[in-house]
Amino acid sequence: MQTIYNTLTRQKESFTTIEPGKVRLYSCGPTVYDYYHIGNARTFTVFDMVYRWLTATGYQVNYVRNITDIDDKIIERANANGETMQALTERMAAAMFEDSDRLKLLRPVHSPRATQYIDAMLDIIRMLEEKGVAYRGANGDVYYAVREFPEYGKLSRKNLDDLRAGERVAVASDKRDPLDFVLWKAAKPHEPKWPSIFGDGRPGWHIECSAMCREVLGEQIDIHGGGWDLQFPHHENEIAQSEGVYPKGQAKPFARYWMHCAFLNFDSEKMSKSLGNFFTLREVLNKLDAVQGGETVRFFLMRGHYRSEINYTWDTLEDARQTLLGFYIALKDVPPADVALDWNDPYAKRFRAALEDDFDTPAALAVLHELRREINRSGSKELAGLLRALGGTIGLLQDAPEAFVRGAKDSGSLDVDALVQERIDAKKSKNFARADEIRKQLDAAGIVLEDKPGGLTEWRRK
Ligand code: AMP
Ligand code: ZN
Repeated sequence: MQTIYNTLTRQKESFTTIEPGKVRLYSCGPTVYDYYHIGNARTFTVFDMVYRWLTATGYQVNYVRNITDIDDKIIERANANGETMQALTERMAAAMFEDSDRLKLLRPVHSPRATQYIDAMLDIIRMLEEKGVAYRGANGDVYYAVREFPEYGKLSRKNLDDLRAGERVAVASDKRDPLDFVLWKAAKPHEPKWPSIFGDGRPGWHIECSAMCREVLGEQIDIHGGGWDLQFPHHENEIAQSEGVYPKGQAKPFARYWMHCAFLNFDSEKMSKSLGNFFTLREVLNKLDAVQGGETVRFFLMRGHYRSEINYTWDTLEDARQTLLGFYIALKDVPPADVALDWNDPYAKRFRAALEDDFDTPAALAVLHELRREINRSGSKELAGLLRALGGTIGLLQDAPEAFVRGAKDSGSLDVDALVQERIDAKKSKNFARADEIRKQLDAAGIVLEDKPGGLTEWRRK
């Protein structure tokens, strides 16, 4: 039985879906004004894992990850670059997919862009106004009246009075309450705008997710995800918007399970664009081996439980690469048999129990380690097949082992295969000095030789 820790109830709950066998999964996606960093990559990888795992255990998962293609940062960056907002977001959305492919993220079933759902957002704002939870400020902005939604704060467990005490009342604000948030911003010069019954303008940030969830998945969804920081105000506001459209007291719960992925930190601080302490996924991948890099980062991100913070360092990344390499070496030495995944196998059972326990990837990977040791000991092709099949349920170990262990790193002018052959010949003619010299030369170039029975030699990256 799958369980999920639900931020809304602060409890691990058993997972049931609105429609039997089907999952409506929404996770907040990137704001496409720049390349995304490996902190963002962690959250995207976690929901990719959830998507793959629920699919592997028999659910039909409708996975939506939106693209935020309108907001202050985008407008600012496009103006600074002297390009249109569309040109910037097109370019960055394409780069986002490129980077995500390298990280082996499956494409979500839908990747809706905010600017294509303006009408759906306006519909919700209109409904909210009708219910008396949205109002127009004198400045032309439309706000959400948080005091009209008694359950405001239920996700983040924040109390309105405490929040207000911490809020400085903005001088020129048209808000009735400092916590009211903007749904529609009146048009300003040099900003994109859309016509509406509220006047020309553009949407606030939070409304886009309420609208895209509703349009693409329906009024109620099963799982809503995002990074830890999105609990407040973003997800709190999504709930207020999506549940505020119903007559008072008749609201249907918007999302049944709220999942939040803990931060990836750098130097013990949240990696973020605004702090400037970030590495883009792209720059990290470019520093890694082209063959091994994507899965290395993915593996590194999945080694921690999604609700625990993880720390990024070059060493932890290299350690992840070595460990992953160990798995691929096992699969190279014992070619996997093409077996169907048998959930009754004791290893498979334990692997499944780990992931069914709120997606406990470290525990699941520990089972794979045991399996690897058993494969190395027994040489069982069936177990190798099982290892590959289990890895596949969370997007690991699907590359050709031979190619993975060799990697792609440029070996300079060395023709590795020719040198390996020359060393074999040298050994045959008892020229051990030359054979040793070649081994040392390759070692210096980061290549490890493994002599196999029958005079064969295989090589791989260190
Ligand atoms: P953004 O493009 O900033 O809206 O972020 C996209 C997603 O990445 C959101 O779900 C964020 O919560 C998440 N995120 C941002 N920084 C981090 C981080 N350091 N670690 C994990 N997730 C993050
Ligand atoms: Zn969102």
